[in-house]
Amino acid sequence: NNQRYIEITVNLYSAKTYLILARDVTQFISLLSIRQTFLTNLNHELRTPLTVLQGYIELLEFENANELQQKALHAIKEQTQRMTKLLQQLSLLVKIETADNKQHHPVNMSAIILSLQKNTALLKTEQQRIEFNIEPDLYVLGEETQLQSAVANLIYNAIKHSGEHSHIQISWKMNQATNQTTNKTTANTPHAIFSVTDNGIGIAPQHLPHLTERFYRVGPARSHTTGGSGLGLAIVKHALQQHNTRLNIESQENKGSCFWFVLGVVEQNKTQSPA
Ligand code: ADP
Repeated sequence: NNQRYIEITVNLYSAKTYLILARDVTQFISLLSIRQTFLTNLNHELRTPLTVLQGYIELLEFENANELQQKALHAIKEQTQRMTKLLQQLSLLVKIETADNKQHHPVNMSAIILSLQKNTALLKTEQQRIEFNIEPDLYVLGEETQLQSAVANLIYNAIKHSGEHSHIQISWKMNQATNQTTNKTTANTPHAIFSVTDNGIGIAPQHLPHLTERFYRVGPARSHTTGGSGLGLAIVKHALQQHNTRLNIESQENKGSCFWFVLGVVEQNKTQSPA
């Protein structure tokens, strides 16, 4: 149809000076929609054969299989699980990109982070040390699944990628220094900072600008063993964009990394809808 999409940006320079920019983004929107339809169809088409494959693998796991057969089955199982996870992540990414952020409501971010504590204890290596430093009952306006994906991906990344002996600190605290934020939208409202800091292997500077791109991994060989898809940080980026904030990444090779973001905090009882 002939519908056109115009993006309007207003840049405020002072009380009387501002610049209004209008950009026709119709083509961009239609390409985005083609891509989303394609990914949704791909997801539907691949999900059924994968489920069938998984069913047959379980059927074949008989006890007296010889060593070679066991090895082959193990490899098939692992790769099928990998593909299933990749599809789940792709579909989550599409879902987040197309989400409607008018659905936001008060969410107990502290509880979301603390609910991951049990999993981290199971996933970490014996030598890794994980510390949670969470201020209780800090609420934000948002969407629970997206926020959960964002924090879970950052925490699991630190466990998967920072090295076997790293010390990982997870923190969610009110920001005391009100003017020290890099995020203009939250400068005058109470806000909290979520961060995952590790003292592990770190990331070389040339990779930093690309980390949130889809499928980007630091050296596929390095990630191969950890079974990553390269979609985790893209999910984090889009989930945070839906909450009008962004992911900050600081890292130094062999020193460690810090992934953090800022979110406005709301008083739960004042903002909760009557429903
Ligand atoms: P993956 O599926 O590989 O985890 P991500 O998009 O989540 O994909 O991460 C991209 C890459 O960033 C990873 O492959 C990894 O090399 C690097 N990375 C992420 N977090 C860390 C970390 N805490 N320490 C070192 N490298 C990291």
